[in-house]
Amino acid sequence: MDHKLNILFLHAIVITMQGKGVGIIEDGAVGIKGDQITFVGKSDDAKGYTAERVILAENKVIMPGLIDAHIHSGDGLIRGVSQDLNNWMQHGIWPFEQVLRQDEDAVLKGSLMNIMEAMKAGTTTFCDFDTPMTKIVENHIQLGTRARVCELISELPKESKTGIGELYEFDPAEGNAKYKRNVELYEEWHGKANGRITCMFGPQGADMLSKELLLEIKNTADKLQTGIHMHVSQGDREINQMIQRYGKRTIPFLDEIGYLDTSLMAVHLTEATENETRFLAKTGAGMVLCSGSIAIIDGLIPPSAAFLENSNRLALGSDQAPGNNCNNMFNEMKFTAILNKCKAKNPSVFPAWKVLRMATIDAAHAIGLGDEIGSIEVGKKADIIMVDFTQPCIAPIIHYPVRNVVPNLVYSAKGSEVEMVIIDGKVVIDNYKVISVDEKKVVSDAQQAVLRVSKATGEPFSRIPDTPLREMMNNEEL
Ligand SMILES: [Zn+2]
Repeated sequence: MDHKLNILFLHAIVITMQGKGVGIIEDGAVGIKGDQITFVGKSDDAKGYTAERVILAENKVIMPGLIDAHIHSGDGLIRGVSQDLNNWMQHGIWPFEQVLRQDEDAVLKGSLMNIMEAMKAGTTTFCDFDTPMTKIVENHIQLGTRARVCELISELPKESKTGIGELYEFDPAEGNAKYKRNVELYEEWHGKANGRITCMFGPQGADMLSKELLLEIKNTADKLQTGIHMHVSQGDREINQMIQRYGKRTIPFLDEIGYLDTSLMAVHLTEATENETRFLAKTGAGMVLCSGSIAIIDGLIPPSAAFLENSNRLALGSDQAPGNNCNNMFNEMKFTAILNKCKAKNPSVFPAWKVLRMATIDAAHAIGLGDEIGSIEVGKKADIIMVDFTQPCIAPIIHYPVRNVVPNLVYSAKGSEVEMVIIDGKVVIDNYKVISVDEKKVVSDAQQAVLRVSKATGEPFSRIPDTPLREMMNNEEL
């Protein structure tokens, strides 16, 4: 047996996420060789091993990297432009999107900053749902992150003249071009970078493309044995469209066309009923819960408790920067726990250990990577973070008569305590510093790009009705 490792952590609190809970090992050790975890156990049992780098991790937690199962990293540049208002999409984000999406360089710079923000807070895997993904994926290559990517496929025309509440018109040529881009993305990138990049298909929502195109996408995804990442029942807007077009709500419609199975990652379910959600869970489909985003955009808490009655394939997602307004899985864990306790009027639901699983091992299963990531286990990919429990906001550590480490990760940590990040066996953040890019330059490039975008947004923004955001700008007392 080869006892020479690349990296060996000793004397750590290891949260393996193995078993039914969190699988804590006190005074634990984790060994990495190449891209894999090759040792997990007590420090005493690691005595026969040597390593190129030995890290003495007293008072540090070693745990699996966090999984952001739904992010539109291309929106990174327009953080904070769309909250505290109704019609979030039409009156908040659209004027900015129209300009941003004409400026590919700006999209890419925002995405790079967004991914870097998340990685610094311990996110190692991203289900990035955006366009142009053939370019955005290069950001994941550069930063060294694991990404499960897809193109946004919709059949909505470039210039939509549809008013609020009216049935969308479709432009099949536009839909086909986007679908083709997703196929090309798959052909070019699936399995690249030592398998760190994998590709799925990304129909934007059941209301945004025709039944014919939805069926073609499903057929291709099944043939390629990959998954589908899709917004499902994401708002009353969507349900209205579905009733107008098909006389059915989204989940019964998707069931009828054969979409509900383990290959589907259903994002949001904001407007799904509890019964629809229980039904979806039973089909084996995964659910992605974006607590922060949906609370800010809609003031709602999706029916994830109903989902959990039938399935653990529940993952968390940060969604997007303009209306969340951060991409930080510690923030998502905390929001998820607190909002659901309030919804149930019961503090015992959504306990910290369960929510931690939603950002690690349960998420890994929900996104179809359960055999590779999500836990610290021999043979799995070495996607590992080290969290410094000597930082005042999460210290001190208590092991007896109760353990406080997991509650402190969920309710106290902010992400800034993540000292080291390893993805696919490579150190990508060391001593809080991102290795592959100049962090200050990433932020200053994004700042320059957003000046361009915000200046050009003035005109389309002036055409929308008064919004709380404009009121804040024009009212000196606010
Ligand atoms: Zn989304």
